[in-house]
Amino acid sequence: MSEYPQRRSLYRLIYASRQSETFEGEDEVTAIIAASIRNNREVAVTGLLLVHEGWFLQVLEGPYEAVMTTYGRIINDPRHADPRVIKTEQIDTREFGDWNMCARQIGAADDAILDALDQRAAFEPFEFTPASALRLLKAVRGIQERNEVKLLTGRR
Ligand code: FAD
Repeated sequence: MSEYPQRRSLYRLIYASRQSETFEGEDEVTAIIAASIRNNREVAVTGLLLVHEGWFLQVLEGPYEAVMTTYGRIINDPRHADPRVIKTEQIDTREFGDWNMCARQIGAADDAILDALDQRAAFEPFEFTPASALRLLKAVRGIQERNEVKLLTGRR
């Protein structure tokens, strides 16, 4: 459950971008997430970052000004290119309130994610509809939550 109050002024933004040539992979994701958690916590932004096959797909949720300021900083980052907004909306409640930011890469065992990609079709975020992008990110959220439960309980 989100630790942040749910207000009508909440906003959600989903965008996709391409990893740039300077993007160096997993270590860089770790650095991005560390900076994101530090900054997003200050302004009550939460979300999820999907990293897959040369793409980023990210959802940001929080107060409108905070989401837009954060996105404005993100799009100037040289580690990715060609950011395109897929969906923006005012929301009543957060769907991604558990993390100030977390990243997930799709693994071979992530069947639910692949299903949400519509019968395992090629990963083409610029082709996603607003609804399919949100559906995919929710599927990623589900996998991430189940993995965290496994880590906490030690269950397989
Ligand atoms: P620092 O992290 O201390 O970095 C200082 C400066 O150096 C910044 O301008 C930073 O952009 C730049 N920099 C640092 N490392 C590199 C590098 N390896 N290559 C090039 N430039 C570098 N930030 C958030 O706050 N919230 C988010 O949700 C978020 N999501 C992101 C998603 C993606 C896909 C990417 C690529 C970046 C994301 N970032 C996010 C990072 C954001 O673009 C800024 O880098 C970060 O907010 C700056 O944080 P900082 O001011 O603490 O600077």
